[in-house]
Amino acid sequence: MTMRISSDPGSDAFVARIEELSGQDLLACYQCGKCSAGCPMANYMDILPSQMIRFAQLGLKDELLSSEAIWLCVSCLTCNSRCPKGVRIAEVIEAMRQVCIRSRQDHLDVRKLEENTLATIPPIALIGGMRKFTS
Ligand code: SF4
Ligand code: SF4
Repeated sequence: MTMRISSDPGSDAFVARIEELSGQDLLACYQCGKCSAGCPMANYMDILPSQMIRFAQLGLKDELLSSEAIWLCVSCLTCNSRCPKGVRIAEVIEAMRQVCIRSRQDHLDVRKLEENTLATIPPIALIGGMRKFTS
């Protein structure tokens, strides 16, 4: 168990949950930025992958769970392959999505999506899932 900066017990629980779900030690990250530099979705993210790890280290739950970035990650695993510390960033981001979903915070109202958008979602989800389970 690592020491955290925040004194908010809810924040500590969030950090512990992210580490448990992802199987990663968040404090292994030393903020080199290589994950963000190689991320194909970085230009569209409001928080870069390296920043997501930093926010998670600090227990900034609300900022992370309200971000667009955790949903824009396509689980391509480029960040994982670039990290010199062996941090599996994609799994950390997946853990954030799981925490968000399990707390019943709907990011999208599927009923409001355009039909052509809906048609593109299942393949993306399928490919992302396959990459995670075969990595
Ligand atoms: S897995 Fe997600 S965060 Fe990592 S490089 Fe791919 S899109 Fe970016
Ligand atoms: S590549 Fe690894 S060590 Fe570097 S910022 Fe990303 S998670 Fe941290």
